[in-house]
Amino acid sequence: MANLESFTIKKAIDSLKKKEFSAVELAREVLANIKKTDDRIGAYLSALEDSALAQAKEADSQIAKSEYFDLLGIPLAIKDNILIKGEKCTAGSKILENYTALYDATVIKKLRMQYAVFLGKTNMDEFAMGSSTENSAFQKTKNPQDLERVPGGSSGGSAAAVASNQCLGALGSDTGGSIRQPAAFCGIVGFKPTYGAVSRYGLMAMASSLDQIGPLAKTVEDAEILFNAICGKDRMDATSVHYGELKLPIKKINQMTIGVPKEYFDKGLDERIADKVMAAIKKFEQAGAKIKEISLPYSKYAIAVYYIIMPSEVSSNLARYDGIKYGFSRQEGDLIDVYLNSRDQGFGPEVKRRIMLGTYALSAGYYDAYYLKAQKIRAKIKGDFDEAFKDVDLIMGPVTPNLPFKFGEKTENPLSMYLEDIYTVPVNLAGLPAMSLPCGKIGDLPVGLQIIGKHFDEGTIFEAGKFYEQSL
Ligand code: GLN
Repeated sequence: MANLESFTIKKAIDSLKKKEFSAVELAREVLANIKKTDDRIGAYLSALEDSALAQAKEADSQIAKSEYFDLLGIPLAIKDNILIKGEKCTAGSKILENYTALYDATVIKKLRMQYAVFLGKTNMDEFAMGSSTENSAFQKTKNPQDLERVPGGSSGGSAAAVASNQCLGALGSDTGGSIRQPAAFCGIVGFKPTYGAVSRYGLMAMASSLDQIGPLAKTVEDAEILFNAICGKDRMDATSVHYGELKLPIKKINQMTIGVPKEYFDKGLDERIADKVMAAIKKFEQAGAKIKEISLPYSKYAIAVYYIIMPSEVSSNLARYDGIKYGFSRQEGDLIDVYLNSRDQGFGPEVKRRIMLGTYALSAGYYDAYYLKAQKIRAKIKGDFDEAFKDVDLIMGPVTPNLPFKFGEKTENPLSMYLEDIYTVPVNLAGLPAMSLPCGKIGDLPVGLQIIGKHFDEGTIFEAGKFYEQSL
């Protein structure tokens, strides 16, 4: 079998169809690579070797019948906050260390219908709270580009698995940047769909008005294949939509106007990243796109607004982990002791910090001053984008203000970690789709270009992404 590094989902499908190798052989090859490299990388929390091989075998029997699907026999990694029936699902938390999923998430069901292969569950910041995967209760995940640095987060395990050929593609979740930022840090493609495009049923909730599941992959084409497989209306998630009816017509590069927000190139941005991102935008101009400076004036409040709304939703979503219904339980003393001690010993420090912030922001007397006000400014942030999209088709800028940082560099000061999300969070607040794709390196460290689209215009984002990849 050819070198795994050269394999994309697209290429593997073509080879499977031509019977150059079987799905079982492909799964074995990738599983062997996980065994060989994951001691060093730490991308996976659990490997699902037996079930993966059984799924690959089923894929082979479909191929034998000449029944083809886009993800037939493709080995994937799944973030450990997405449920796979019968398998452990920890969300990177001690409180769910021994929890086994009782049903499949809708995205998993959809991938099963295409006979995809699930290799294992990937490491993440506890309940997806973090930007470095250092908040996992279980292990460190290293950035495959530089083992002394973090892979980003919270989908750091999924990003590291894709970047080190431990899978052909992966699923992550993005509440404030958790797909795009680790993709940028690991030098791969990460895509956060429009809010509602993908069902959240079976995704462990962090902040429900912001969470979306999306793909991480080596190429834009692969991310698109994965997105197409998981999108669509689901009666189990009332916020999901009939994607096919809503999607916008795709624009060609030479008909596009690209907005470049001046607020995204402010002093907080590493100049070397600014140069790479501007050089990437230049390629679009050379191909006939119009470039226009735009302004998103309310984006300066995005971090403040996000760190009110997100913890508020976190505090109510995580109330269910009470030592009674799910997971870890400290059975001592009376009922209140069980609640308090189970939560105290089950949750890590960042999760507790956010539960406290959120509970405070929602409490009587403070609700109007914090949560309600944040919601009003959220509407203004969305309004900025609506205004900008009257004149432009896409918005481009950086994904992160800094290059991948070293372990421990930002753990002492939570605020410095929160500021890493400055360019990704506005997109979630506005419910927009956005992609991170590699646009060069500084030394060994990759830089990401962010492409933001209109609601349900993922097609134009993919079009732009594919053009950029081909131009390299
Ligand atoms: N890094 C952000 C946070 O800590 C985003 C997390 C996410 O998207 N899940 O909240």
